[in-house]
Amino acid sequence: MSHDRSHTLPLEGRKALVTGGGRGIGRATAMALAARGADVVIVARSASEVEGTAREISALGVRGLPLVCDVTSDAAVDAMARDAASFGAIDILINGAGGAESAPVLRTGAKLWRETMATNLDSVHRVTIAFLGGMLERAFGRVVTIASRAGLEGFAYVSAYCAAKHGVIGFTRAVAREIDGTGVTINAVCPGYVDTRMTRRSADRIADATGVTREEALARLARFNPSGRLIAPDEVADRVVDLVVDEAGEVNGEAIPI
Ligand code: NDP
Repeated sequence: MSHDRSHTLPLEGRKALVTGGGRGIGRATAMALAARGADVVIVARSASEVEGTAREISALGVRGLPLVCDVTSDAAVDAMARDAASFGAIDILINGAGGAESAPVLRTGAKLWRETMATNLDSVHRVTIAFLGGMLERAFGRVVTIASRAGLEGFAYVSAYCAAKHGVIGFTRAVAREIDGTGVTINAVCPGYVDTRMTRRSADRIADATGVTREEALARLARFNPSGRLIAPDEVADRVVDLVVDEAGEVNGEAIPI
């Protein structure tokens, strides 16, 4: 797409796809992309949530398409990519789907390990390669994965999640070097604790395990952030937007802490 963008919204005419777009960071990102003119495909397992985000997007005057898909399944992602193709070629892919269960390492058995890898790491590989080829053919694309500070440093009681998020960042850096100079970029953002259901669930587990109140557990998590407060989903979304605009073409292979 090479038309003059000087009088249009920065993402007008672009097609984006956001996994995990039903709630939390993914939803905020989908809304931020739509507010800047992009049409957006919303992907997650909960039909009511993807439909909810898609409705809010349509209300902004751009197109929103809800697709139900479990990103841990090859067949489901293949079908989702086919359905997305009916919407148009995807220029912007946001890998937002993810989640964490906590457990001490000696209670992190094979099942928790595999499920965590499937949700947070294998899915990023699977969904990225489903759309990257088309981006390379068209010589334009933006891939941003919602990694985590857990991809850059260690956190206690989430060894599988930390391993998966470190893996996501390694994948991002490697693919970036492979696609340097093609017009396609791939980057990751690495937030600390964000105010979403995932963080509230972590606080509930800490409250159950330690006997502190839910509020105190949330405050403890917030203190891990340099600011001492939980990050708003919109703050993460704004950083993602910075990476997907046309002007961000020189930023490739970065893992950006938030
Ligand atoms: P939420 O739990 O609020 O949202 C997670 C989203 O991912 C939901 O839309 C969920 O939908 C979707 N999802 C989860 N598993 C799958 C699956 N197998 N297939 C398709 N969609 C799936 O969490 P957040 O918004 O907090 O997290 C979003 C991302 O940000 C995750 O990758 C997380 O690891 C990362 N992150 C979060 C931080 C935080 O503090 N909250 C900090 C750093 C990174 P559904 O369940 O309907 O499938």
